[in-house]
Amino acid sequence: MPVLPRLILAALLPMLFSCAGTDAARPAWRGGWASARDVDKLIPAAKELRFDALIFSGPVERMREISSLLRSVGIESYGWFSLTSRDPALKDFFQCMSPEEEKALEAIAADKSPSRGGYQFGGEPLPGRLDVLQTRLLCFHRPEVAAWAKRQVREMLERCPDLTGVALDYFGYQNYRGCGCPVSMRAFEEALAAGAPWAALPRDAALDAFSLETLVAFTNEVADEARAVRPSVKVAIHVYPVFLPEPLYGRRLKVDYCCQTAAWFFEPYWPDEKIRRYARTIATDRNPDYPPYRGVPFVGVYVGRTYADKKADRLARELSLIRLGAGTDSLSVCSFNDLALTPALRETAREALR
Ligand SMILES: [Zn+2]
Repeated sequence: MPVLPRLILAALLPMLFSCAGTDAARPAWRGGWASARDVDKLIPAAKELRFDALIFSGPVERMREISSLLRSVGIESYGWFSLTSRDPALKDFFQCMSPEEEKALEAIAADKSPSRGGYQFGGEPLPGRLDVLQTRLLCFHRPEVAAWAKRQVREMLERCPDLTGVALDYFGYQNYRGCGCPVSMRAFEEALAAGAPWAALPRDAALDAFSLETLVAFTNEVADEARAVRPSVKVAIHVYPVFLPEPLYGRRLKVDYCCQTAAWFFEPYWPDEKIRRYARTIATDRNPDYPPYRGVPFVGVYVGRTYADKKADRLARELSLIRLGAGTDSLSVCSFNDLALTPALRETAREALR
């Protein structure tokens, strides 16, 4: 090669590689968190709204059917996995909360007021509220739960070869902060005594650091297990319920599609500035330990009986703010069924996601 073109190429190559890490250089990825109901109607909606992937749960036979159907129409499929199992073998391994948090849980369950007094069901609580998740979560500090979770993910991928991957959900703490069970507390004290990097922090901050570190480590172990079954597998996650000491911690996760909330489901809807700021952070964060990592803004779409429905004009505003903030067309939506099967919302999304 003549010298000049070689020099130009040498100058360009690093630029090309540095661009490879930006979202501008990657195709957008859109994933819909769905239920297995109405799958036949979801496929045309996914095509129309240019969604690449749908996330489902269900019995293994149904998952096999759905993943095979989606593969045949060129849509990625992800098997949903959460820490909410009611398997009797796990009944003694749920997370523990303080008496105040248990009392808050009772009050939340008893509250039948409109919009339930502002309860956000796992999203960031309104200022001054002590919220906890109504759904009991398994304690992943327990070796039995960790082993069970990895086994479940392994079996799902082995038995459903057409699945593109696994989508993790409800990986977090019922009180949005940490688990108070004896196994968790013992692990904390042992890590403290062993001189963990956060051991010199005040006790509350050290406990938060332990809770985050172990949540991240567990999530990454489950993701590694999925990749051990099939190296090409993709792992997605919705970072939920909120981890209050650091809501946007997703960049530590070794996952391919890290869906973090940029606009929550329920009123009072998030301020414009917060949606733009979160979308920006979510879309631009990187995980140097796992280069395939992609941050995907998540928007909650709700149509139901308990809370006020999210209306089309509100959704349009949120989608526009997310795109402005994130600078990417990547997006994750739950519930995709509500989006796809509510004509006004679907039309709004079709306009906004062009
Ligand atoms: Zn625990």
